[in-house]
This record gives sequence, C-alpha cells and structure tokens, in this order.
Amino acid sequence: MSLLTVGTVAFDAIETPFGKTDKIIGGAATYIALAASYFNKPINMVSVVGDDFPEEGLQNLRNHGANTDGIQIKKGEKTFFWAGKYHNDMNTRDTLVTELNVLADFEPVVLDEYQGCEFLMLGNLTPAVQMSVINQLKSRPRLVVLDTMNFWMDIMMDELKSVLKKVDVLTINDAEARQLSGEYSLVKAAQIILEMGPTFLVIKKGEHGALLFNKDSVFFAPALPLEEVFDPTGAGDSFAGGFIGYLASTRDISFDNMKRAIIFGSAMASFCVEKFGTERLINLTQNEIDDRVQDFIDLVQFDISLVND
Ligand code: AMP
Repeated sequence: MSLLTVGTVAFDAIETPFGKTDKIIGGAATYIALAASYFNKPINMVSVVGDDFPEEGLQNLRNHGANTDGIQIKKGEKTFFWAGKYHNDMNTRDTLVTELNVLADFEPVVLDEYQGCEFLMLGNLTPAVQMSVINQLKSRPRLVVLDTMNFWMDIMMDELKSVLKKVDVLTINDAEARQLSGEYSLVKAAQIILEMGPTFLVIKKGEHGALLFNKDSVFFAPALPLEEVFDPTGAGDSFAGGFIGYLASTRDISFDNMKRAIIFGSAMASFCVEKFGTERLINLTQNEIDDRVQDFIDLVQFDISLVND
C-alpha cells in the first residue's frame, strides 16, 4: 500500500563503548525506509540533503524500494549532522552536536506522484515540516503516525502540540512521554497524551520493550534480550519503519493488528542495534525476520491455569 515518509536523511557520528564512527549515513527517514522496505514497497520519501551527501547513499535507499524523488538536494549547503555518545548502559545517550544545516529552512514538497498515500509516517524532524506535509496532502491518509524527540519538545513544544492534534499514532520514548505530559506515571502520562490528539500512543522503553495504549486498552511487547547491543542509533526509527510497514502491508489498523505491528517493529529495532548505523538493516533476509519474530513469540508464550479454573 502507498506509504509516504518524511524525516531526516543525515550524517551521524556515533560513539559507543564498543567504538566510534566518523560521519556515516543515518537520519530518521533513512532508518524508517530501510526497515519498512521489508514489508511494503515503494516507500515514498520527503526529505532534504546538501550536495555533500553521496549519490551512493540515495542509490542504496532506491535499491531497497525507496522513491527518493522527493529528497531535495540543496546546492552549496550541508546535510543535517548529528553526533551522539552512548553511556555504558547503552540505554541513555548525550547528543553532542545537532547541526541543522539544510533542515534550518527546509520547505518540504509532496510530489504529485505521492498524493493519495494511505499510510503517512512523520519521522523525527521539525514539527512545522511534519505539519506542512499533512497540509499538502489532498486526501487524508488512513493512518498518520508521528515520531518525535525531546529536542523538539525543548524548543518547539507549541508547534509539536498543534501537529499532535492531526495524528492517529504517536511514538515516543518513556522520558519524552513524561516531558510531554508532565506526569511521571506512564499510565497517567498516556491518558494525558491521548487527550492531545492521537488515538494510539506507543511508548518505547529501549531494552525494556514498548507499550501500546488507546483509551480503553494497553498492550506490552518486550524487547529481545540481546547478548550484544553494538549501537542503538536508529532503533526508534527502525521500530517506526517496521511498525508502519507492517500495517501498510496488511491494511488493517485495528488495535489487535497494531499489537502485531509492534512485534515486527521491535524485531526491526533488535536487528538495527546489532551493528553500527544502518549496516545490519541493509542486508536482512525474510527468513531472518521470521526467525526473530519467532524468538519474540517464544519469549512471552506460557501456559498457565487460573487458580479458580
Ligand atoms: P533514534 O536513535 O531512533 O532516536 O534516531 C537516531 C537518528 O535520528 C540519527 O540517525 C539522527 O541523524 C537522527 N536525529 C538526531 N537528532 C535529530 C533531530 N533533532 N531531528 C531529526 N532527526 C534527528
């Protein structure tokens, strides 16, 4: 089904306890497109890079079924750059550098060929850009999912709250849910956030899994206990890509199907963290994905009889 995504296509410099990279290709939309490509093609992309961005980077996305016609290339300008350093627990990180560069005055353009999309993934970037993409679509998609981060809550909370009124699903991590709602309890935070607009809320808790809320129900999916986490960068975006890619491929946006989508999203995130950057997401097979989902099933399946049965 038609899937459109907007988000950063970026250079990242990453430092983990296992090593350090110079500028490698990353960005929210890159991870989303790669993860979604295992479920649904094409992935129509809206983004922006500078002319320092290598053509192979775009070609690599196209090889995975992405349509990169909507990625603007700005002459004489520099690509968005982010640098981060992970703590020993690998669950928390410090942002060392965020250079907006081309993102600072980015005006997204939704191409005519992208109109009529049924599934819209608003990846992490300026809330105004996310809003502009929604407004440019002539017909409302069946499902609009938004991912964001503390960076935008710190500097553009009002704009972010305006976009939240227009989306169906919000995906954020636990610290961001607390920041957005002002509530420590995630259950209370979810109630407050669901009042802001989204019908569904996914709270990602890193190695502790993810929670899915709507007004009446809650579902918990674990994260796979992995022997080695090499680099968590892009885990959230890979989760989002797997989540919306699966929903788009099945065209079912019920709460029950979202539970399955969360497992597929968690599986894609678990692959992402096994190598630096996008390395692991680039060469996956369908069998590896199936085996990984089976691992999730085995992890949480148990037989039990109730005391009063
Ligand atoms: P994640 O680890 O899923 O939070 O995503 C990491 C990716 O997000 C990296 O590839 C970065 O290029 C990108 N990123 C970092 N900061 C921002 C930001 N403020 N806006 C948009 N994308 C960002």
